[in-house]
Amino acid sequence: MNIHEYQAKALLKKYGAPVAEGVPIFSADEAEAAAKQLPGPLYVVKSQIHAGGRGKGKFTELGPDSKGGVRLAKSIEEVVSHAKEMLGNTLVTKQTGDAGKQVNRLYIEDGADIDRELYLSILIDRTVGRPAFVVSTEGGMDIEAVAHDTPEKIITVAVDPETGLTQSDLDTLTSTLKLEGEAKADGEKLFPILYKAFVETDMALLEVNPLIVMTDGHLRVLDAKVSFDGNAMFRHDDIKELRDETEEDAKEIEASKWDLAYVALDGNIGCMVNGAGLAMATMDIIKLYGKEPANFCDVGGGAGKEKVAAAFKIITADPKVEGILVNIFGGIMKCDVIAEGVVAAVQEVGLKVPLVVRLEGTNVDLGKKILNESGLAITAADDLDDAAKKIVAAIQA
Ligand code: GDP
Ligand code: MG
Repeated sequence: MNIHEYQAKALLKKYGAPVAEGVPIFSADEAEAAAKQLPGPLYVVKSQIHAGGRGKGKFTELGPDSKGGVRLAKSIEEVVSHAKEMLGNTLVTKQTGDAGKQVNRLYIEDGADIDRELYLSILIDRTVGRPAFVVSTEGGMDIEAVAHDTPEKIITVAVDPETGLTQSDLDTLTSTLKLEGEAKADGEKLFPILYKAFVETDMALLEVNPLIVMTDGHLRVLDAKVSFDGNAMFRHDDIKELRDETEEDAKEIEASKWDLAYVALDGNIGCMVNGAGLAMATMDIIKLYGKEPANFCDVGGGAGKEKVAAAFKIITADPKVEGILVNIFGGIMKCDVIAEGVVAAVQEVGLKVPLVVRLEGTNVDLGKKILNESGLAITAADDLDDAAKKIVAAIQA
């Protein structure tokens, strides 16, 4: 689950991290009052979307000369005019795709005087199975280019979760970032704060790009991108409330309402499966026969007919889907429930693409009978291999 920059900063501020004063706004009418609460004379008007690269982005409606999605302003009037230009318009950045994202919220912030822009993130490093800091002196808007051209300038410091950040970890971080004097003292305070926030709130990623050294020698968190481990959100009701559904894929929202694991992909075969292992195997075998999955929806173990129908509807709602493969190995899940769910969904929304169904396991005969008697144009398959071949052939026909 992702949150907006201003929400991430409010969270980090609670932990004691240095962030600028700022006010989120939802309409241009609020811009003047927001700016008046800040000290000035420098303000920053920041588009709040769940994507990075805003500074170098462009608004579709403003044409090729569009200014970016993060703008400095030297007066309250300028804040207001930027706000009017940005709110409601579509920001396209390297991370949004060509369609861009509509800007519905702005963050008006007190501007900082920057000496240096650094990069810092914390993530779970799966190669060592630990949280790790990733840092570089080359922070700012081109970290992707740094990673590509000069990867040696990016340093990873894995943290032992048993001990937390040690003095030796702190020394590595401050020396890698070339922090001295007050900035070094700030860093030694800040890094454990960020680590604590990361662990306690079950973050999957905390990216501060840039972390800045200001001209007064102090550190400040200038940008913050946070995503949380969705599987841990049940223990963070306060964080769940920060969710902004307008930023999310409508199908993923619908899937999460039904507690379905739905993942959108780039191909054109929709997959309904039960269990993560079977999902992976199904996708592998589709690829083996030369096609790509458009998505997969895992209905899990104990789903009822309504949940199966919801899953089927989510899959068919994706316009990329040219064919559907239902691949179920009924253990706890019963094949007749799957069949009833599929039939109910098709009766409601229709079936415009080929559908191949492979059922095996508990109540398989009853499941097949329900499908056969439904009168729907379903291609039955005997096993996984047969199913994959049939759906690939069907969409190529
Ligand atoms: P991003 O482009 O989505 O990563 O947005 P950022 O929040 O990182 O802002 C982009 C860039 O705007 C930063 O790298 C800074 O160069 C600049 N910027 C943002 N806030 C300030 C500020 O308070 N003062 C100054 N001088 N520049 C800022
Ligand atoms: Mg940034």
